[in-house]
Amino acid sequence: MSQLWKVARMIEDFPRFKYHPDPLTTGVFVALKGQCPVCNQQTAYRYVGPFYSETEVEGICPWCIHSGAAAECYDLMFVDEDEVEPVSQPERVSELTKRTPGFFFPQGDRWPAHCGDYCVLLGSVSWNNDLSSLPGVKEDLSRIRARLEVTDDLLRADLCRPNSPLRAILFRCEKCLTYQLVADYE
Ligand SMILES: [Zn+2]
Ligand SMILES: [Zn+2]
Repeated sequence: MSQLWKVARMIEDFPRFKYHPDPLTTGVFVALKGQCPVCNQQTAYRYVGPFYSETEVEGICPWCIHSGAAAECYDLMFVDEDEVEPVSQPERVSELTKRTPGFFFPQGDRWPAHCGDYCVLLGSVSWNNDLSSLPGVKEDLSRIRARLEVTDDLLRADLCRPNSPLRAILFRCEKCLTYQLVADYE
């Protein structure tokens, strides 16, 4: 009974991450009970995303990422600061790298910034999401095509293919609401 209550409360209290708003859907947290190594509390969720640290640490709870306690305790980053686009406010860099759950990028691609702030990670996408109609995506597709040196047909085919080695990750700028697409072969 008390267990059930605890889990219910935790779903309601799940922290809101500005740059990664739905980390349960993107898969970097799993619903699995355990003890968080930072706060030592029982938690219903464990972090299974990337982190950059000297120490191996497992089972961090979302609250300890959100508060910065995990980053401080283990001197770690969840998003590598060398793999983010530059923005002028250091506070925004530290919120993204130390207080935001990370995401596995195909090839060390960079977390995009737009209008002076980091874009919000929406998750992995395929062509079926009507990508090209989203504002900003057409430009990104032609940039990606040029960088990967592939034809438009091949790029589209690889974006549609199930289990494709080409992974595309969609972001949105919350200021101007244009989309940013990052895509690379794994
Ligand atoms: Zn914790
Ligand atoms: Zn923008």
